[in-house]
Amino acid sequence: MMDLKLYINGEWRSSRNKESADIINPATQEIVAKSPRGTKEDTEEAIKAAKEAFESGVWSGKTAQERAKYLFKIADKLDEKHNELVKLEVMDNGKTKAEASFDINDAATCFRYYAGLITKPDGETYDVPEPVQAMVVREPVGVAGLIVPWNFPMLMSVWKIAPALAAGNTIVFKPAEITPVTATKLFEIMEEAGIPKGVVNMVMGEGSVVGQTISESNDVDVVSFTGSTEIGRRVMRAAAGNMKKISLELGGKSPNIIFDDADFETAIDYGLFGIFFGAGQVCSAGSRIIVQEDIYDKYVERLVERAKNIKVGPGNQEGVEMGAIVSEKQLNRILKYIKIGKQEGATLALGGNRLTKNGMDKGYFIEPTIFTNVTSDMRIVQEEIFGPVVVIQKFKEEEEAIKLANDTDFGLAGAVFSQDGAKALRVIKKVRAGITWVNTYHPTFNEAPWGGYKQSGIGRSLGTYGLEDFQEVKQININLAVEPVGWFKN
Ligand code: NAD
Repeated sequence: MMDLKLYINGEWRSSRNKESADIINPATQEIVAKSPRGTKEDTEEAIKAAKEAFESGVWSGKTAQERAKYLFKIADKLDEKHNELVKLEVMDNGKTKAEASFDINDAATCFRYYAGLITKPDGETYDVPEPVQAMVVREPVGVAGLIVPWNFPMLMSVWKIAPALAAGNTIVFKPAEITPVTATKLFEIMEEAGIPKGVVNMVMGEGSVVGQTISESNDVDVVSFTGSTEIGRRVMRAAAGNMKKISLELGGKSPNIIFDDADFETAIDYGLFGIFFGAGQVCSAGSRIIVQEDIYDKYVERLVERAKNIKVGPGNQEGVEMGAIVSEKQLNRILKYIKIGKQEGATLALGGNRLTKNGMDKGYFIEPTIFTNVTSDMRIVQEEIFGPVVVIQKFKEEEEAIKLANDTDFGLAGAVFSQDGAKALRVIKKVRAGITWVNTYHPTFNEAPWGGYKQSGIGRSLGTYGLEDFQEVKQININLAVEPVGWFKN
């Protein structure tokens, strides 16, 4: 069993209270690690270390090329340890090997992307009235507080750590309480890569203690949070104290619109992939499939037929296509929503139960679940379930599809399936969401911005936008004719 430690000011150590939490493999309920329960004091020490490291210039004072070298080295080490990291991610989170392998590869790509980006031209000059030359430069914000959820433990961490470091910030990082294992490996890798002491700090523990302390601290200059909308709201309030910059990547209830002229099998395949990838524990999951009337019955029938055949089981087993639910708490939340759906009068077209046979008796597994006959006011249509549960809605005309698609408080992602290119573009432009697809679902790239409209968040991860979250923008005006201004006459 792994005995995890906090990483503060270049040292691995236990929490001040010496308390630890059991980290459980959700496919077996085995205890795989002990993780320290960081205290407020631990968190404040980490923030102090990050502040001192920032002010010393040990990192921000390096050239972009120098910082990039470290990031490339981290990426190479992620590749070298790929198989070990995949194994650990499967064990800690419950996802499948294929899913974890994608995450670890993408994490290395993300470090390389930001290592490359930071050495590319940035800043601007402006043609302003003489005799002034105006320019804009970008600088690190300072101490970055980074808080992530459990669904992509490695990838969500790297989406924040890579741009924050590339831009020259120092960091205090908090993994989700239940998935700290691969983050610990990442910090070991950053130490091996030679990142100076105090630049990267990690505190595990409860969100209400560690996360809250980071969000409230006057010594944290930017907080970048990924998690639920409910906690995002708390982070926003806590951040108001010192007006720190904030970026929030929050929940979703994303529409997947299927027109009757879509390539049918493609629309079925991405309908499945949209919701059952990651057992639906994906912020951008296509959890509302909105199907045109003419093909509705045929679509439901075929989706049920395909979903029935998804092989559910422990993520480390060959051939398993959908892994475990991350925790007992999450399992119960999903089962509660399934019960609510039934009580609300929706038709359960498939699934709805916990799975306990075929090697799943000890873990947290749920059948792929499909609800039909739903109405917009139902909770299972409006609220994020974060599990393998999809609702299938029906529409007649284009306008109705758009109305249904936008009829939630969220605005994270959305997709349209149609072979009429003009219609697909017309509709996707009206979907109020930050991440959208046409005739596909889920592909995402380090190059492009990731984030939501409405209550799905503020700011964007990835791409140049993801770097900007960790940069201040400064204008410098230079007088080219050094003489008095002469505004006051005497
Ligand atoms: P969560 O909001 O419960 O927790 C997220 C993180 O916040 C955890 O590290 C937690 O410890 C911490 N936290 C809890 N209370 C806090 C507080 N008071 N102050 C500061 N931090 C606190 O979310 P979760 O259950 O871990 O993850 C699932 C949620 O994450 C879903 O809503 C999902 O949509 C969202 N998510 C969004 C994206 C995105 O890119 N938009 C990506 C992945 C997950």
